[in-house]
Amino acid sequence: MLNKEIPYKIYLEESEMPTAWLNLRAFMDKKPAPLLSPATLKPITHEELSKVFCAELARQELDDTTKYIEIPKEIRDFYKMYRPAPLVRAYCLEKALQTPAKIYYKFEGNNTSGSHKLNSAIAQAYYAKEQGLKGVTTETGAGQWGTALSMACSYFGLDCKVFMVKCSYEQKPFRREVMRTYGANVTPSPSMTTEVGKKINAEFPGTTGSLGCAISEAVEAATSLDGYRYVLGSVLNQVLLHQSVIGLETKTALDKYGITADIIIGCAGGGSNLGGLISPFMVEKMQGKKDYQIIAVEPASCPTLTRGVYAYDFCDTGKVCPLAKMYTLGSGYIPSSSHSGGLRYHGMTTTLSELKDQGLMEARSVEQTEVFKAATTFARVEGILPAPESAHAIKVAVDEALKCKETGEEKTIVFGLTGTGYFDMYAYQKYNDGVMSDYIPTDAEIKKSTDKLPKI
Ligand SMILES: *Cc1c(COP(=O)(O)O)cnc(C)c1O
Repeated sequence: MLNKEIPYKIYLEESEMPTAWLNLRAFMDKKPAPLLSPATLKPITHEELSKVFCAELARQELDDTTKYIEIPKEIRDFYKMYRPAPLVRAYCLEKALQTPAKIYYKFEGNNTSGSHKLNSAIAQAYYAKEQGLKGVTTETGAGQWGTALSMACSYFGLDCKVFMVKCSYEQKPFRREVMRTYGANVTPSPSMTTEVGKKINAEFPGTTGSLGCAISEAVEAATSLDGYRYVLGSVLNQVLLHQSVIGLETKTALDKYGITADIIIGCAGGGSNLGGLISPFMVEKMQGKKDYQIIAVEPASCPTLTRGVYAYDFCDTGKVCPLAKMYTLGSGYIPSSSHSGGLRYHGMTTTLSELKDQGLMEARSVEQTEVFKAATTFARVEGILPAPESAHAIKVAVDEALKCKETGEEKTIVFGLTGTGYFDMYAYQKYNDGVMSDYIPTDAEIKKSTDKLPKI
């Protein structure tokens, strides 16, 4: 197998696709801290979690000991429609950068939702269906998660109610139409259909909404409707678990050609795609077999891992969801309106937070205009128009490749290309017109928000 010529795209056979998800927490000596119930501030029980989430998903959320969890056949069959995802050797980018580094990216944008989110959406819809539920509720900011969930629900014949942050509902009408085409019911948030929505509308007339508010509406809708549960597209450990298919496929593809990665890079919003990508590599790192350099990339406007504090915090603005010990900017933190909606979350999944705290993973923050510069360079040579979120990983991959150019090192860099950016042309327009701005919060702003963290 060694020294074979590496093709532009490494595809796996269907028979090489993973049959079990990898539960990264089960391999950690020091586990992430447990979720706490917002009512009792004690570790949350399966019974409490099952009121909000499907029973099996609640079980997966609490399971930090089972190393591999079998992927049900129905989900594997769905995966086969758009997976395995290719691992691409970025020969053209390497040439453009004149770097001796070898660059690979795992491309997750080959499905209608345009991102990795479908990997977990299909699993969550499957367990809802299996439990005999009528439907699920969720929130969506930029719209990728809502789209993925709509596709998954229509596949299993489930009702799907999406609360879409009002400003994106208005700014991204085509995202909304994709969801409706898949049969989802899309409501701009804050709405007048929930108590919390009415309250927020009365308090802040004309507000264009926020993710935190949409979460509270979706949770209220799920818990007040018979036969409904709430589902979430990132942050939770169950989502990291489902996203491990990204890393498992990547590892199989690299192994097939005898390639060893030196650096693994991913963008981090809630942390699920990065957690999934690094899973099998982090296991080898923790076992002392390989010393991969693992880098999480976040926007300088929402610098959770690089400037937040590691503490218990609420996962939503309405404080109805469980509390998590994580790197956080505070649940009341409102990041400036960056064009990477998928990376504007105030916290970070507990697993990645703990790995960062243990020094097993590093984090970098990058500014929006340099991200779009990297996105444009990439689009022009590799042919894929990346999502702004994904372009955060591209930016750091390019930085590392340019370092190799200086030192002459032939490092192997692998990064996650989470999706395509066709619904983000407004952002590209700003960049092309030269009117994109970078906002970096001051220490005082961050402190003001983190000072209000719950004292636990
Ligand atoms: C949602 C999203 C992200 C952020 O992913 P997390 O798993 O929450 O870190 C990144 N890229 C794209 C294209 C997304 O849609």
